[in-house]
Amino acid sequence: MEKWEIRGKSIVNIVERKNVKCMACNIEDVKIEGFWKYVIERNRKVSIPLLYKLFVKNKTIGNFEIEAGIKKGEKTYRLATDSDLYKWIEAVSWDLQNQWNEKNVKLLDKLINLIGKAQKKSGYLNTAPSIKKEFENLKYSHELYCGGHLIQAGISHYRSTGKENLLNIAIKWADYIYKKFGYGKIEKTDGHPEIEMALIELYRTTKNKKYLDLAKFFLEIKNPEYWGLPDIPILKFKELIGHAVRMMYLCCGATDYYIETGDKRYLKVLENLWSDLKNRKIYITGGIGSRYDGEAIGFPYELPNLRAYCESCASIALMMWAYRMFLIKGESQYFDIFETTLYNSFLSSVSFDGKKYFYVNPLASTGTYERKEWYDCTCCPPNIQRFISSLAGYFYSISEDGIYVNLYDRSEAKLKLVSGKNVKIRNETEYPWQGKVFISIESEEGFNLYLRIPVWSEKTEVKKGNEIYRPEKGKYFKVRIEKGKTEIELNLDVKGEFYRGNPNIESSRNCLAIKRGPIVYCLESIDNPDINLFNSLLLEQKLKEDYEEIFNGIITLSGEILTSWNELPLYPKSKNFKIDYEKKKFKAIPYFLWANRGKSKMNIWFLSSY
Ligand SMILES: [Zn+2]
Repeated sequence: MEKWEIRGKSIVNIVERKNVKCMACNIEDVKIEGFWKYVIERNRKVSIPLLYKLFVKNKTIGNFEIEAGIKKGEKTYRLATDSDLYKWIEAVSWDLQNQWNEKNVKLLDKLINLIGKAQKKSGYLNTAPSIKKEFENLKYSHELYCGGHLIQAGISHYRSTGKENLLNIAIKWADYIYKKFGYGKIEKTDGHPEIEMALIELYRTTKNKKYLDLAKFFLEIKNPEYWGLPDIPILKFKELIGHAVRMMYLCCGATDYYIETGDKRYLKVLENLWSDLKNRKIYITGGIGSRYDGEAIGFPYELPNLRAYCESCASIALMMWAYRMFLIKGESQYFDIFETTLYNSFLSSVSFDGKKYFYVNPLASTGTYERKEWYDCTCCPPNIQRFISSLAGYFYSISEDGIYVNLYDRSEAKLKLVSGKNVKIRNETEYPWQGKVFISIESEEGFNLYLRIPVWSEKTEVKKGNEIYRPEKGKYFKVRIEKGKTEIELNLDVKGEFYRGNPNIESSRNCLAIKRGPIVYCLESIDNPDINLFNSLLLEQKLKEDYEEIFNGIITLSGEILTSWNELPLYPKSKNFKIDYEKKKFKAIPYFLWANRGKSKMNIWFLSSY
C-alpha cells in the first residue's frame, strides 16, 4: 500500500472534502526560488541551528533529560517551554520537504528518543517543574497546549519523513487525554486553546474519530476557564476579543471542526468573527492585538501605533486561520489578509540576518526597541520558524475543477489535479517588487486556473495568447487551461500608493501611510535624520522608486515631506496654533526591514493635515 495519499504531505490534510472548495497541496510540491528563497534558506541555515543551541544553553532540552532520568539536576521553569521544542521540531520536519537533510533526520530521531523516555507510562508528558499534579491548574499550566504542539510536531514529522516514532508518542499522549477528559470525566479545558486544531489534524492523520469527538468536547465545554478570553464556548463568541494568539488558535480549531463536520453553527460564528477582524481589529501591517495588557485584541478600532502589541505568534495564528477560512470558501479576501500579514507584521518579526526576533511588532518606535535572540517566553521564534518552513505549502491549492494560485514568487510547482493528472507550473517574476508574473504551464489535461488578483491591484491585466483580460481586484480570476503547454502573463498593478485609516481609529486619524503592492513602507531615522518622524506632514504626491542594492535588493520610495522640530506647548489655543514646517526629502523602506541597521526611530502613519 502506498504510504501517502494524494496531498498527504500538506499542512492540513482534510478528510471531509464536501465542506471545502480547496485542498492543501504538499509543501515539497512547490520549490520557491525568488523573494522567499532567502528567507527559507536563512531559516534553515541560521535560525533553526541557532535556536537549537539556545535550547541546549537554556535547558529546554535539559528538562527532558532530567524528566527522562538521564541527567540529574533542577529543571528550569519557563512558560510552556516544552512547546518551544515541539514547534522547533515541526520547523525542522516541514523544512525536510523543502530540502532533505539526513543530519537533521538523525538529530530529530535523537530528540524523539529523548522525548519518548520523558513520557510517563500512562502517556502523560510535561517537563514543567511547576506542575505538581496533572491537570490541577489547567488555566495556567499549558499542559494541553504543549500536548497540542506535540501532536502537531508528530504529524509534521510523520508527513515529512514517513516515520511514526514521534507520532506514536503524540498518539499515546492523546489517548491518555481521551481517557481523562470528557463529560463525566475531567470537564475542563486548557487556559490556552491549541489542542483543538491539533486533535482534528490527528483525526485527519489517523482517521480515528475519537480525536475529532475530543476536539468537539474542548470546543463546546460549557465553562472553559480560558485565560485572557471570555469563559464561553466559541459558538457564543460575538466578537474577536481577548488574548490574540489564544483567540486565533481557537478560531483555527473551530474552523477545522466545521470543515470536518459541516456543522453550520460554527461557520456562522466564524464568518462573523472574520468580519469583525477585517473591518475593525487589524492593523495596516496585518498585525493583530493592540494591548500589552493581556496581549489582547482591543475595542473596535482600538489600534495604537507606538503601543501596538501585534505579537509575532498572533500574526502566525491569524494566517493559519485565514488559510482555513480560504479553504472553505475559496475567496480572495482571506489571502489578501494572509499576504498583508506575511509581508509586513510577520516578516518584520525576524531580523534580516535570521538571528533575532521581535515578540511585539509596533507600527512606530521612538528608537529604543530592537529584536532579541532569546526571550524567557520564547514562543515566537520557533513559531516563526515552523511557519517559514511550511510557507511553500500555502502558495497553491487544489479544487475539484483545478488549481488556485494564492501567492506569487519565482517558483516551480509540480501539482496533481483531483483526477491524479500532473501539472507543472513555473512562475518567473520579481514579485513583490514588480507586478509582472510569467506563468508557464504544462498539463496532462485541461483544468481551470484561478489567479488571485490582490485587492490593491487597481488595473490588472491577464494575457493568454491573443486574449487579454482585465480581471476584477480582490477576486480569483478563472483562466481555462488546455492540455499541453500554456503561457500566461499576469500584470499586477504594483505601485506606491497612499492609504488612510478609518476615522474611528484614533492613532491614524487624518494620517497617510504608504504601501506598494503588498508591502507597507516606513520611515526610519537612519535614512531621514533631519525629519521629525512624529511631527511631519505628508501630502499625496508622485513617489520616486529606486532600486537599492541593500538587503538583497529592494525598492525604496522617496518624496517630499514637511517637518518641524519646533517645540510646541502641549495644549495651545486653537486660534494661535501654527507649525512652521520645513520641506525635506524623505526615503521610505519596507516596514519589514526596520531596525536592521541598529536602533532607529520609525513611523508608518504621518499627518496629512493639521
Ligand atoms: Zn509568541
